[in-house]
Amino acid sequence: MHDFDLIVIGAGSGGVRASRISARHGARVAVIEESRPGGTCVIRGCVPKKLLMYGSAFSADAADAAGYGWRVTVDGHDWPALISAKDSELDRLEGIYRSLLGNAGVELIEGRGTVTGPHSVSVNGREITAGHILIATGGWPQIPDVPGLADHAITSNEALDLPDRPDSVLVYGAGYIAVEFASIFNGFGIETHLVYRGDLPLRGFDEDIRLQSAEALAGRGIILHPGCTLTEVTAAGDRRIAALCNGSRLDVAQVMAATGRAPNTAGLGLEAAGVELGRGGEIIVNPDSRTSVASIYAVGDVTDRIALTPVAIAEGHALADSLFGGRPRQVSHHNVPSAVFTQPPIGSVGMTEAQAAKAFDKITVFTSKFNAMKNTLSGRSEKTFMKLIVETATDKVVGAHMLGPDAGEIMQGIGVAVIAGATKADFDATIGIHPTAAEEFVTMRTPRA
Ligand code: NDP
Repeated sequence: MHDFDLIVIGAGSGGVRASRISARHGARVAVIEESRPGGTCVIRGCVPKKLLMYGSAFSADAADAAGYGWRVTVDGHDWPALISAKDSELDRLEGIYRSLLGNAGVELIEGRGTVTGPHSVSVNGREITAGHILIATGGWPQIPDVPGLADHAITSNEALDLPDRPDSVLVYGAGYIAVEFASIFNGFGIETHLVYRGDLPLRGFDEDIRLQSAEALAGRGIILHPGCTLTEVTAAGDRRIAALCNGSRLDVAQVMAATGRAPNTAGLGLEAAGVELGRGGEIIVNPDSRTSVASIYAVGDVTDRIALTPVAIAEGHALADSLFGGRPRQVSHHNVPSAVFTQPPIGSVGMTEAQAAKAFDKITVFTSKFNAMKNTLSGRSEKTFMKLIVETATDKVVGAHMLGPDAGEIMQGIGVAVIAGATKADFDATIGIHPTAAEEFVTMRTPRA
């Protein structure tokens, strides 16, 4: 009766996965995208961010190389060449996304879709219908109401496409995006200010990690302005003048607002269709990703559950299996590992110490802070920090956190152990791989007093 079994609005990570897997299960699927297939992660987020992060890390590598006998002369940096190489890679990935959809038999409709009813969507002036509709429209940077900020600041969208390398940047905020971009700018030799209202960056992370991270970011040369808000931003030619609440003024080439992201739900026709939204505009869903309208679902950042690409992919895949694969299942949002790609990076899984102290009668905490072997010859003064949080009664490791080189890579494996319910005794029984930093996770013997 319907044109399709599933119409997906948004060809980002969650929407594409749901489309492909649904089609593989035999469903007739259309996916509507108003921008470029790939979405935030591939086009405006994780992928270009990580490419710039790789690029920015070479300055520290070059500095470290001297201690190992290399005579390295860094002869400037060709910013337009980097942006152009990054753009070519994104074009390639967008092409892959398009062919993944095409090969799966999914119809890609380029345009803006709006929901017109429980089973109908309007796109490019025509109405199409489906048994199920999935909203996977992601999120968008939000800018607080500070005079001049919206007019004169860039967001992560523009920061990835700057035509020239700025000499100085003020990054406003201290969440994932703020600290990652501050690290990128700083790595490229750009004078970088991080202005944030809290006393430490990365609210929500373990307090020790926040503390170590602030030290490490400052140690790398980022100028931290904790406990500060912006009161006004003005333009003076191509410069930006930012007034801080402590009365100081910063004259910089760019101000970047990294003050959070809001779900993309405006103008999608959701309220009219009866889809319940939360106070931040997020789509309210149940554990099956079903909205208040039985035939309409939502996955990914637009639901504001956990705004991470692999979570959106898992939600999209589970929905496709549930609707069309005869295998109804839900995604656990518990113990989701994540990394912050600062320099040095952070990896984290499970509870923070504060959360564990609240959840359990007694916890045992193990920490280790050491100078990584690579720093000995390079002379870099930067500590690696690791922390394990154990529920004392069961001996289960309920949280693991790290700041140091390769933290994201290391934490993926630790995440498996935590999900599997590994105990501290299991960690202790694991032989270390020597010499690595990761072995410290299996050799922490003495609890913190
Ligand atoms: P976050 O919510 O992580 O951080 C927002 C920052 O902006 C916080 O420091 C917050 O301060 C500050 N802020 C918010 N409102 C204001 C305001 N009105 N005035 C001043 N400061 C303000 O958002 P991001 O945009 O950095 O990232 C969005 C999400 O994207 C993340 O939560 C994460 O899930 C995902 N992401 C993941 C990455 C990864 O996995 N590596 C990388 C990038 C993004 P305060 O803490 O005081 O509230």
